[in-house]
Amino acid sequence: MTKLRIRGAVLTATVATVLGLVSAPAATAELAPFPALTLPFKAGQQVYSAGIHSDDGSTGVKNAIDLSPADRTVRAPLAGTVHLQHCAGGDWVTIDHAGGWRTGYYHMEGIKVTDGEHVEAGAELGSTGNALPCGGSSTGAHVHFTLWTLPDAPAANWDGKSFAEVSTTVAAAHGEPVDGKTIGGWRFTAGAEQYSGTATHLADNAVTQLPGRFRAKL
Ligand SMILES: [Zn+2]
Repeated sequence: MTKLRIRGAVLTATVATVLGLVSAPAATAELAPFPALTLPFKAGQQVYSAGIHSDDGSTGVKNAIDLSPADRTVRAPLAGTVHLQHCAGGDWVTIDHAGGWRTGYYHMEGIKVTDGEHVEAGAELGSTGNALPCGGSSTGAHVHFTLWTLPDAPAANWDGKSFAEVSTTVAAAHGEPVDGKTIGGWRFTAGAEQYSGTATHLADNAVTQLPGRFRAKL
């Protein structure tokens, strides 16, 4: 989702953290460490990112980042099994990877994969777009790329769940922060506000402020 900012919610979350009211997700034996993902498009091109944010862009774990690669082609960042999540307005894509990790791709148009399909890293998933199959909003073609863990329900399907539900109850139960993750040779750090943060290129420690543009080389 894009461009919805509620400062009060950020302050509330900060206070809760200070008071120790926010606990880390329970670790489970089945969950593997964060896997070695690429960014979800071909390396070597310019990408614009609107920054790191929660699924609804206002509250909750910041488990998403908006990405707009120059070639508009979204690709699998790692091998896995595709789930097409069906809603009244169309479909969106998730991929289940080994070790209980699930990645999501919202707003795509021209989806190129099918439900249950096994994809290898680099497989074309579709194009960045403004699709709203289960609700939400989008300003400008992009993919809303999300991280979750499903250690106890690797095949769970979210057919028919509104994006409002995915971005609240599902995110609260399964969302994983983008903050601190290394993806495709870049370490992503969330900011205090929605739609902010940095992307640090680990090879040379070059830092891109988000929202911003960087060249997604490896
Ligand atoms: Zn988004």
